[in-house]
Amino acid sequence: MKFADLHLHTHFSDGTFSPEELVGHARRLGLTALALTDHDSVEGCAPTAAACAAAGIEFITGTELTAEYEDIEVHLLGYCLDTQNAKLLAEIAKFQTVRQRRIREMVSRLNEMNVPLDVEAVFALANCKSPGRPHVARALTKAGLVKNLDEAFERYLKKNRPAWVPKAKMSALEGVQLIHHAGGLAVMAHPGLNRTDDIIPALVDAGLDGIECFHTKHSTAMSERYLEIADKYRLLVTGGSDCHGFSKGKPLIGTVKLPYECVEKLKDAARRKSTEPSNR
Ligand code: AMP
Ligand code: FE
Ligand code: FE
Ligand code: ZN
Repeated sequence: MKFADLHLHTHFSDGTFSPEELVGHARRLGLTALALTDHDSVEGCAPTAAACAAAGIEFITGTELTAEYEDIEVHLLGYCLDTQNAKLLAEIAKFQTVRQRRIREMVSRLNEMNVPLDVEAVFALANCKSPGRPHVARALTKAGLVKNLDEAFERYLKKNRPAWVPKAKMSALEGVQLIHHAGGLAVMAHPGLNRTDDIIPALVDAGLDGIECFHTKHSTAMSERYLEIADKYRLLVTGGSDCHGFSKGKPLIGTVKLPYECVEKLKDAARRKSTEPSNR
């Protein structure tokens, strides 16, 4: 059987692996294909594509856009998109600036609480354009201000905790359009995590192409539920581990094994889309 992992992060957002390390793990695991889906970034796609080519693994371009629909946060995976598309890059740059400003605000809140974290230490550790809360958590841990990442989130960074700062997000409908504009397919990420079921019909009306049925944090019952939803709305089925690096001593990549047949369907749909002039 051939398998893929279509939800992966590198240090171009909040993952800890470099593209080369990620692809090294994929090769050892025998994956046939993978997609990179860094948060609000496509910068890692070129180096990951190069590493995949060297390892004989098929690479699918991707991103994970942070979006919202009626105040509900929804993560939109974009697949098979043109990572050089000017509008995509401009929109991504805008949201990366929002992320960087938010880091400053989170650190100021920590400083106001007499937690002496240096914002430049967070940026140095993140060393990417798309920093997020995991970088603040890692910097807090590194500075000895919390014991571990869990404590950082529990005490300070989780929603409604004192250093949590809401993030300006793009509208989910615009997100779907943006992915289409870049020639890609829009897929709702980990629907079981965000309680986003109610908004699926609206996103389908907006042109949603697929739904991530298989995810590390989906139970078997959840995966079955989303497979039924995919069937009902004729959506593509995707899946991935959402690997951000090591988890409990093991790389999370490959723990969700998406049958390669789903990748073929995804690519067929992308090919059909590229010949539909109305979407460009
Ligand atoms: P942000 O995009 O800055 O809001 O950060 C969200 C990211 O933080 C997610 O993609 C996860 O990688 C990570 N994250 C969210 N909640 C937790 C948590 N409770 N513990 C550890 N990591 C988390
Ligand atoms: Fe993340
Ligand atoms: Fe996500
Ligand atoms: Zn993710």
